[in-house]
Amino acid sequence: MVPRSISRKDFIKNSSILFAAGSSLLATGQAVAASNPAMAAPGKTLTLKNVRLETGFEYEGEEVSGTKTELFTIEISDGKIKSVLPNNPAAKGIDAKGLLLLPAFKEMHIHLDKTYYGEKWKATGKRQGGVKGMIALEQQIIPELLKNSTYKAEKLIELLQSKGSNIARSHVNIEPTSKLDSLKHLQQALEHKKDTFEAELVAFPQHGIFYTDSAALMKEAAQMGVDYIGGLDPTSIDGSIEKSMDFVVQLALDYKKGIDIHLHEGGESGVKTIEYLVNKVNENPVLKGKTFISHCFALAYLDRKKQEEMAEKMGNAGVGVMSTIPFGGMIMPIPTLYKYGVDVRAGNDCIIDHWNTFGSGSVLQKTNLAAQLYGYRTEFDLSRILKLATHNVLPLDDKGNRQWPKAGDRADLVLIDASCSAEAVSRISPVRSLIHRGNVVF
Ligand SMILES: [Zn+2]
Repeated sequence: MVPRSISRKDFIKNSSILFAAGSSLLATGQAVAASNPAMAAPGKTLTLKNVRLETGFEYEGEEVSGTKTELFTIEISDGKIKSVLPNNPAAKGIDAKGLLLLPAFKEMHIHLDKTYYGEKWKATGKRQGGVKGMIALEQQIIPELLKNSTYKAEKLIELLQSKGSNIARSHVNIEPTSKLDSLKHLQQALEHKKDTFEAELVAFPQHGIFYTDSAALMKEAAQMGVDYIGGLDPTSIDGSIEKSMDFVVQLALDYKKGIDIHLHEGGESGVKTIEYLVNKVNENPVLKGKTFISHCFALAYLDRKKQEEMAEKMGNAGVGVMSTIPFGGMIMPIPTLYKYGVDVRAGNDCIIDHWNTFGSGSVLQKTNLAAQLYGYRTEFDLSRILKLATHNVLPLDDKGNRQWPKAGDRADLVLIDASCSAEAVSRISPVRSLIHRGNVVF
């Protein structure tokens, strides 16, 4: 939707044109905020009229056959929903023109610090030597990548915004090659975008905590405003589950952070790492709900009974899974994870970099992929799996009662060209507007 090379200024301009298509979509006053989100100030109010909200399910017999919607007027104040009112087409404010309002999306696994995005196309090379081979490659290319990594992170953030995400969890390399520069550069980009975007940061020892000498840097990073302590394949990279995971857990406890490790390892070492982390979280309940395993591929290789057993342990311990929804040779047991209450979230991981070039930047596209992979085809099932994009915030509850948006909810919103959630997921409908904490991003 937004060309890759588009500048920040053009992005805002084009988006405003898109928004303004037809008649004067932006009322005076809002137009200023839309073209310069940084101007949005505390106490700012915003009115959206002709907003389509889901109001219930239609049934044929027992089966949900469709989704009912109506138009509303929504008032926003101080970054929150102030009221949801019957529609007033004469109200002064932004005319949403009947577009569907959904919760803004959350991109929950990405590397904003490390990308080619914003530069010319480059396919990945042939991989050699597994993750260790990639570490050797990174040691060569990172100094070059770092030269304009703030700029590229900003471009990447704009891509995510154009696809409806206003929040991301970004891993950021902490290793002896970039030292703390990947983090500092990304923090600059986030500072530039702070009125329209937020990120949780994970200090990520991409080159191993001990495989390269990263432990001291990780401790420094933990004191530099990160939210999570990362980790990487403890057996294959650091040679020890205990040594590597104990370091991660202790650092998280010492600095009151969460945990989000990359675990690509399958087989016994992968399963043992999951069990080790689950046990550590059970021993330290402060980590419950704050501990995540990204990828967690080991689960995909287990038989169904063992998958259920692991999912139950993870659900009980409050250990979540971050997934790119892989397909091909490996399908993650996402429905089983949901069954046991595991906190599942989705992300693109790589948009275009030396690891992968297939990320679209859309977490709605990942949700569509999940719907296809796991057979969520009906109106009801499609409407439910939207939770993967919104982190469990859904306009309707399972009975079809409207539960979102309500007064007090954060005004993190997308206007999307779809008639209902199910259509948005199935068609990967285009996002026409993003609002971050009451600020119109575009
Ligand atoms: Zn990753």
